[in-house]
Amino acid sequence: MSKSHLHNAQNKLLAWYEIHGRKDLPWRNTENIYHVYVSEVMLQQTQVKRVLEEYYFQFLEKFPSFFALAHSPLEEVFGMWSGLGYYRRAKNLHESAKLCSDGLPQNLNSLQKLPGIGRYTASAICSFGYQQSVSVVDTNIARVLARYFGVENAKEAYLWELADSFLNISNPTFHNLALMDLGAMVCLPKNPVCKECPLVGGCKGASEPDKYYKVLSKKYENKKLHFGICVRDGKIAMKRSNEGMYKDMLELPNIETSFYEKNLLGTFAHSVTKYRLEVHVYSLDSTPEDVIWVAHETLHEAGISSMTKKALKLYNGVKISAEGVQN
Ligand code: SF4
Repeated sequence: MSKSHLHNAQNKLLAWYEIHGRKDLPWRNTENIYHVYVSEVMLQQTQVKRVLEEYYFQFLEKFPSFFALAHSPLEEVFGMWSGLGYYRRAKNLHESAKLCSDGLPQNLNSLQKLPGIGRYTASAICSFGYQQSVSVVDTNIARVLARYFGVENAKEAYLWELADSFLNISNPTFHNLALMDLGAMVCLPKNPVCKECPLVGGCKGASEPDKYYKVLSKKYENKKLHFGICVRDGKIAMKRSNEGMYKDMLELPNIETSFYEKNLLGTFAHSVTKYRLEVHVYSLDSTPEDVIWVAHETLHEAGISSMTKKALKLYNGVKISAEGVQN
């Protein structure tokens, strides 16, 4: 691409951002690097609207700084993350805060040594937080670049090279934000709105966008889970998960179903990451070993997953008797 074509495309992109960009998002209007970091971690795998309406401000109010986060128990962090899913993000955020309660490093390499920070998050922090001249590639930007440069089945490393070659070094932060918004609002996975795109003039993929970006159908794994609920003196038996996606969180004890078939309280379907779960919940008269008794009214503060919340809802319709839980 000639220099004049490059500058022309970059300028059109910035002009589009000026009018259409999501410039009022709070994490785009702060110099607080902690706020930028929290937003980037939350936005991995979660829609902007949900983060904005339900989590971002609430989390920052509870943990207003790296220091506050680092000195809070992990359970409280899980509690504020409850329902957002991908809880490892919360744990990594907490661990990173403990490692750098004086502030985050200011370069790509050091950032990537912190838990949960890969190349994307490190470059987003450098670009959006520190206004450094670095390119950023997330899924939206990758799609725009692959179509604009007409690259089929582009490897990730090549997309980063394209992003570097396209970076507007006179305004790298807004350039990256503009590409991100263009991918989210115009260059959509299905049916991109090319007639409204500032890059349409030079886009190699505009005539056949599907050729350069294939919408892959998600592959799910089906799983059955069995949990037991045991209540004593207003407290519920919970266990600390020591593996998998809910590692370190409190969950109901896993049980062998054959003993408890007759105590089935109900079942429900739950989707999380790549799993489609069929969850069966039973009442228990006795508990497995190593349980932690948690008062019902404090469970919400303990950081439980939305799957566990759904399971506990089944219990709400059940009476507690002196003998245990009964239908
Ligand atoms: S012209 Fe169409 S395919 Fe090309 S970047 Fe714009 S929206 Fe995407």
